[in-house]
Amino acid sequence: MPAKVLINGYGSIGKRVADAVSMQDDMEVIGVTKTKPDFEARLAVEKGYKLFVAIPDKERVKLFEDAGIPVEGTILDVIEDVDIVVDGAPKKIGKENLENIYKPHKVKAILQGGEKAKDVEDNFNALWSYDRCYGKDYIRVVSCNTTGLCRSLYAINSVADIKKARVVLVRRAADPNDDKRGPVNAITPNPVTVPSHHGPDVVSVVPEFEGKILTSAVIVPTTLMHQHTLMVEVDGNFSRDDVLEAINKTPRIITVKADEGFTSTAKIIEYGRDLGRLRYDINELVVWEESVNVLENEIFLMQAVHQESIVIPENIDCIRAMLQMEEDNFKSIEKTNKAMGIQ
Ligand code: NAD
Repeated sequence: MPAKVLINGYGSIGKRVADAVSMQDDMEVIGVTKTKPDFEARLAVEKGYKLFVAIPDKERVKLFEDAGIPVEGTILDVIEDVDIVVDGAPKKIGKENLENIYKPHKVKAILQGGEKAKDVEDNFNALWSYDRCYGKDYIRVVSCNTTGLCRSLYAINSVADIKKARVVLVRRAADPNDDKRGPVNAITPNPVTVPSHHGPDVVSVVPEFEGKILTSAVIVPTTLMHQHTLMVEVDGNFSRDDVLEAINKTPRIITVKADEGFTSTAKIIEYGRDLGRLRYDINELVVWEESVNVLENEIFLMQAVHQESIVIPENIDCIRAMLQMEEDNFKSIEKTNKAMGIQ
């Protein structure tokens, strides 16, 4: 029997997770929820998803009825029929849903990166913490930036032990559909304090990096991707080729060359469009090959993260781990990647 999955919060992350679940042969979408009867709600129904109202309230249900969008009921009408909920609600609301809905109804739940590490049992990345999250009830799939860092640090750590990592993150200001956020004409240190929260977030997945990783971040006026520059001190003897080989061997990382036209995040997104990817998603972490450099025992590289899609395959593997559907993380990764067409 395929695992029954409810997506609570059909926004940027939620709709992508719904489509990714639909692509797997061992899980199915039992329903998706919306708070408002907008075009996304209408499209969800047109795609064949059963739609439920996220807020259990008669007035809310009436809004959908008045808009002519059919709903099957509220979240409370479906919550106990599912094996797991993937929460895609905005930052901080995931925690409220955990306390008010998932825990009282004893349903396993995955929260997203906008929530706090301390509010869940553990923090998920398919390469690092699959085994730890196996069979657990409440897990957070870490943010897009943390997922990207976890993948490249995994590759580097497979070449030589990491002693110290310094990372500068250049963050996109808003998602392409977001008409409320900025800046439109500024570079904003965010957070202005150093270190930023991204280092501790990596440590929530990889506790052995405690005290070794330090990050700082700025926000810039772009919507397409985040960009990171990594400087990583390691122990051991290795060459640039060894590092590139490790990057190429690590699942869900691709390398691109500026020399071939990948001169910016804009060009990487164009590649996603040309590949015909749904919503031009690039689920892979993208490393610029020319940026990979080794100076004595220090590794440098630059990478790009498609914020809306990098965490989607992680949610799928997290479902398999929490429901104990596959013991081996690499088998789950391979299965997810194959179904989603990830390189
Ligand atoms: P979003 O605003 O695009 O979507 C959130 C959806 O949840 C909307 O459809 C909204 O109507 C719905 N919602 C509002 N209140 C709700 C409630 N009480 N219950 C259920 N649903 C509710 O947000 P998003 O960008 O998809 O972010 C969701 C989570 O994923 C956040 O924790 C965010 O930090 C995290 N995340 C976002 C990105 C990204 O770049 N967009 C990347 C990684 C992780």
